[in-house]
Amino acid sequence: MELHTLAEHIRSGNIRAIGKGITLIESRKPEHSEKAAQLLELLLPYSGNSLRIGITGVPGVGKSTFIEAFGSYLTDQGHKVAVLAVDPSSQITGGSILGDKTRMEELSRNPKAFIRPSPAGETLGGVARRTRETMLLCEAAGYDVVIVETVGVGQSETTVASMVDFFMLLQLATAGDELQGIKKGVMELADAIIVNKADIDRQKTELAKGQYENALHILRPKSRNWSVPVLAVSALQHQGVPEVWQMLSRFREAMQASGEFAAARKRQAVDWMWSLLLDDLKQLFLDHPDVKGIYPQLQQAVAQGITTPAAASRRLLDIFRR
Ligand code: GDP
Repeated sequence: MELHTLAEHIRSGNIRAIGKGITLIESRKPEHSEKAAQLLELLLPYSGNSLRIGITGVPGVGKSTFIEAFGSYLTDQGHKVAVLAVDPSSQITGGSILGDKTRMEELSRNPKAFIRPSPAGETLGGVARRTRETMLLCEAAGYDVVIVETVGVGQSETTVASMVDFFMLLQLATAGDELQGIKKGVMELADAIIVNKADIDRQKTELAKGQYENALHILRPKSRNWSVPVLAVSALQHQGVPEVWQMLSRFREAMQASGEFAAARKRQAVDWMWSLLLDDLKQLFLDHPDVKGIYPQLQQAVAQGITTPAAASRRLLDIFRR
């Protein structure tokens, strides 16, 4: 199919065309990546009109149950919801934590929702690149809420936080008297903390909420126009879900009024350009025939203490620049 026609069909929301476009984006064949780049150029003017929401939390906290409840609530309100995943674990373990097809069954049958598992067999950088591009495509296809889900593997939370407007952290209400193994860095990324499974124990939920609120007080706020709220929900019983959407709407209004919404998107786009450029440069370097010919040897010399890492690195760069 001609690219202009494919772009037209994607813009009209045609599911097969969307799938085809994403397949191009995810393909690693050089001829496909050229086509994918052209397709994205055609779609870019129509992208950007969504609220991009990142969601993280440990396995079992209820991410898919929450997304199912939240997504259904949003489609009932007339929104179109795309759910993407960033799960680089498939590269490390060969299996994936989020890719499981049985998750979000109801939402996957919903004609106003689109669910796409994480691209497989990629590094975090590769997954992030394809997810960002898929997000733009979904926006051009009319999805006005894009949810990017991730499980905390390595740097994946930071990566997802850098591609969304709002980042939320799901936590368990049943924690009791200590904050559960929460990485401080992740708390700093959060624009809200959602305490899930509030139906199990009201008292513990309130206790956990209070603890997160206290923990948040000692963090430096990301914006002076937004104080990070802690909300209790029961994803299973669909309780507190409308409140999450109201909170997100308040965030969007506040950030748009202060100009931070657009500023953050601009910053993200420029950062993304740099990260692509650096990735591509690295690949170019590693694919350079002369570099390829000599680096195993130099690497060994460094390992054996014959050459210093600095000298070897300079030598490789000289070879690359010749
Ligand atoms: P994920 O791994 O983070 O995606 O977690 P899941 O959504 O798969 O949920 C893990 C388990 O917790 C499932 O058995 C859910 O039914 C259960 N669960 C999720 N949300 C709630 C909730 O609000 N209340 C209760 N009681 N159970 C929940």
